[in-house]
Amino acid sequence: MLDSTPPRPTYAPITLRDLATIPQIAALPADTRLQLTAVARVLPFRVNRYVLEELIDWRRVPDDPIYQLTFPQPEMLDAGDLQVVADLLRAEAPGSEIEAAVRRIQRGLNPHPAGQITLNVPTMDGRAVRGMQHKYRETVLFFPAQGQTCHAYCTYCFRWPQFVGLDDLKFAAREAEQLVEYLRRHPEVTDVLITGGDPLVMRTAALRRTIEPLLEARLPGLTTIRIGTKALAYWPYRFTSDADADDLLRLFEEVNERGMHLALMAHSSHPREFETSAAIAAIRRVRSTGAVIRCQAPLIRRVNDDPGVWAQLWRAQVGLGAVPYYMFIERDTGPKEYFKVPLARALAIFTDAQRHVSGLCRTARGPSMSATPGKVAIDGVVESDGKLCFSLRMLQGRDPAWVGRTFLAEYDERAAWLDELRPAGGEPEFFYQRALRDAQRR
Ligand SMILES: *Cc1c(COP(=O)(O)O)cnc(C)c1O
Ligand code: SF4
Repeated sequence: MLDSTPPRPTYAPITLRDLATIPQIAALPADTRLQLTAVARVLPFRVNRYVLEELIDWRRVPDDPIYQLTFPQPEMLDAGDLQVVADLLRAEAPGSEIEAAVRRIQRGLNPHPAGQITLNVPTMDGRAVRGMQHKYRETVLFFPAQGQTCHAYCTYCFRWPQFVGLDDLKFAAREAEQLVEYLRRHPEVTDVLITGGDPLVMRTAALRRTIEPLLEARLPGLTTIRIGTKALAYWPYRFTSDADADDLLRLFEEVNERGMHLALMAHSSHPREFETSAAIAAIRRVRSTGAVIRCQAPLIRRVNDDPGVWAQLWRAQVGLGAVPYYMFIERDTGPKEYFKVPLARALAIFTDAQRHVSGLCRTARGPSMSATPGKVAIDGVVESDGKLCFSLRMLQGRDPAWVGRTFLAEYDERAAWLDELRPAGGEPEFFYQRALRDAQRR
């Protein structure tokens, strides 16, 4: 009898070294390939066979959205910077010389936006706690040391500095004990968000070492364990045929059995990510554990800057039982000019997409900026004193008293981030700015 079990795909990263072994890349003219290599020295690059074979539509390259999502493009860098690296590569310059040029360019790409390093690190007994961030009262972020890479890298990722070794895993935590102790002292925290990178690159046994202590501690305030991941999109076999996939699902069930909620915060950028049989099977299995999948992603030029794409994305999510959660504005870091969508256009795309779907798809909030004071959504365009204004809403605030506050900014067709906006009505600054300055001084 024939063996009917399909072969198990095994995960293997394809990195810069293997770029030329990708047949479609090998077929490119030598100079184009050199340029790709030059950008991939500066920005993170990693894919795998699933992304290459099932997600990217090579007939549409270079415009293909998943190709844009995962392959560094020459236009992502300043032309002069690209030239410098390309020339060094062409001349086969010493590694140290290339490295120095690459580092200089990387540091020019605003590697640490929104006060990430200075403002959000919690302290315990007067000392900074490694591997954690606590910005919004109810939710603590936990960065397990082994979960700081991904199954593939997104070219626009705001965590890019850690993937290119610029950050030396500044946030990574070694163990869960400190987390439990911190939560005991902070009963106001209801949610722990395990994040990275992608914590689901970790083996289940390692993830268990983070999650089990949380379950066993019986923390009265804790209701929800969130896992931030792009594995559904980049490596759905993590939930189906990987050797420890069953154990992962079992772990999800255990969270549920303890009366807690497991939320899989799926980074989901494009409807194609939901079209493969592997992804559909993975979603079905995750849902069977009682976990809820909530989907979020930034709005990215050339990847998903189209209301039709978002409407289709939300419909695909809801059709598979996942919940649309956030549409983000791309952060002000890395190749931001390449991906930038102005706020006015983001609002138009969001609104248009919402108009084409049912109410169950309209649970997505946004478009939202994860900025220094909090998560700020662009709610609409209104008129005030005869002038056009953006109506903004603080969805999350560094100070809980800011949550829900609406405020106005002068309409600006080109502005793409909060710090490019000016308060309406001639006010000198937004309501939160003074308090923020004080916090930054401390
Ligand atoms: C978005 C975010 C959260 C979670 O916010 P929710 O609105 O509850 O999803 C927590 N911490 C940080 C730093 C965040 O950016
Ligand atoms: S999967 Fe998430 S963390 Fe990983 S590269 Fe993409 S955006 Fe960044």
